[in-house]
Amino acid sequence: MDRKISLYLVPTPIGNRADITLRALDVLKSVDVVLAEDTRTSGALLAHYGISRPLQAFHIHNEHRAVEKLIERMAAGEQFALVSDAGTPGIADPGFLLVRECRKAGLNVECLPGPTALIPALVQSGFPCDRFVFEGFLPHKKGKQTTLKRLAEEDRTVVVYESPHRLIKTLEDLQLHLGADRVISVSRELTKIHEETVTGTVPKVLAHFQGKDVKGEIVIVIDGKKEH
Ligand code: SAM
Repeated sequence: MDRKISLYLVPTPIGNRADITLRALDVLKSVDVVLAEDTRTSGALLAHYGISRPLQAFHIHNEHRAVEKLIERMAAGEQFALVSDAGTPGIADPGFLLVRECRKAGLNVECLPGPTALIPALVQSGFPCDRFVFEGFLPHKKGKQTTLKRLAEEDRTVVVYESPHRLIKTLEDLQLHLGADRVISVSRELTKIHEETVTGTVPKVLAHFQGKDVKGEIVIVIDGKKEH
């Protein structure tokens, strides 16, 4: 007998809508309800693929109170798919809490492989990707300097998510903690029309973005510390 999946985590494109997988489309068509970080964003995406399923909001502001009821419905036989605004749910997006509670309740969960921003940024950086550390978003204020000090000593490649309006400040902080010789790679707008990847020493990358009105979504990849 087929193992019944109660919750599918379904990665969605990070820009280019052609990056959805055939299996993601099949799952989205087949579930009873699609849980979405933003029902408008995901409604438009589903409509683009010609899929019409009931949507229910599931985001950081309601996940704690929504989980218990969702587990009850799954236990009663309903099948759900969770999507975030872009990429893989649970990666710097809601998902972890629901998966943990499903596991506790003995419900089957399956995460489909698919789009996420960290992997293309890492692989196209040209830095070693056999081992790496994903830090998600850096702390905004408290703890940022401590985190950067720790990352400066990291010998594996480090991947960080950043917003465009904090990019310059973060690059300045990186220059302070990593020094002028460490190499980084900044990927902006992956899979989109204005995609660019800028690689070089921190001062070189900083000079590229300084004075510009930086827009779009950004991943910073930091080459690991080398033993001299
Ligand atoms: N769940 C997503 C994933 O799997 O990558 C990440 C969601 S997180 C809220 C959004 C952040 O991911 C952005 O601030 C940026 O750092 C990164 N990101 C998402 N799409 C991107 C893209 N097309 N290009 C570069 N970075 C992107």
